[in-house]
Amino acid sequence: MDTLPKKDELLLRLRDFHSDYFPLHQQRFEDSVAHRQHPKTLFIGCSDSRLVPYLLIGSAPGELFLVRNVGAFVPPYDGSHGLHGTIAAIEFGALSLKVERIIICGHSHCDAIMTAYDGAPEEAVALRSWLKLVDEALLPMQPGAEVLRRTEQRAVVLQLERLMDYPFVRRSVEAGLLSLHDWHHVIDDGEVHVFDSKDGTFVSASLASHSGTGPYQPYVEHDGRLNVE
Ligand SMILES: [Zn+2]
Repeated sequence: MDTLPKKDELLLRLRDFHSDYFPLHQQRFEDSVAHRQHPKTLFIGCSDSRLVPYLLIGSAPGELFLVRNVGAFVPPYDGSHGLHGTIAAIEFGALSLKVERIIICGHSHCDAIMTAYDGAPEEAVALRSWLKLVDEALLPMQPGAEVLRRTEQRAVVLQLERLMDYPFVRRSVEAGLLSLHDWHHVIDDGEVHVFDSKDGTFVSASLASHSGTGPYQPYVEHDGRLNVE
């Protein structure tokens, strides 16, 4: 302890976790080891540092199976057997853990969406390729605040559509074994807007009657003003 470097904040935080947080949840951690994990929720979220899934839905250790990537994107299901980390996580969650719900959570002020408009650095070849996954949601106009918000919401709907192309996801949804939740989290007001596939609209959680998308239907831009076509 005496040799602790004064500026090693991470080490201090690790010690705080062990001394303060872990004892509060020790039994839960031990149970999850003894009986394996049984999360009911697969959470697909953007890697953004301001999106904190455990805070957002008040989850404890063992409750969320997380996959996070730049933009909260879902790659097309192509069965190519490539090194697709996100696809593998979706398969693990849905087929091995048999989660009962999948949340796709995008958010406001998303740098991934902004970068999709502005362009990533030349050297970031994987990122440039990855951002193509949101191309279909981009709007042919200057990316001001309103356009960015609309794009963020269109992006999570696009990922939902892709997710429904995963055969095992569609099968489970249609069998009523799996529910889908498409969310847009507004970082600076704390509100989450829930996509309702029946109406093709996002409804704030404070007004929404449910947290899920409802019976799946193809998305139709509801106000017509910002259609890409
Ligand atoms: Zn983001």
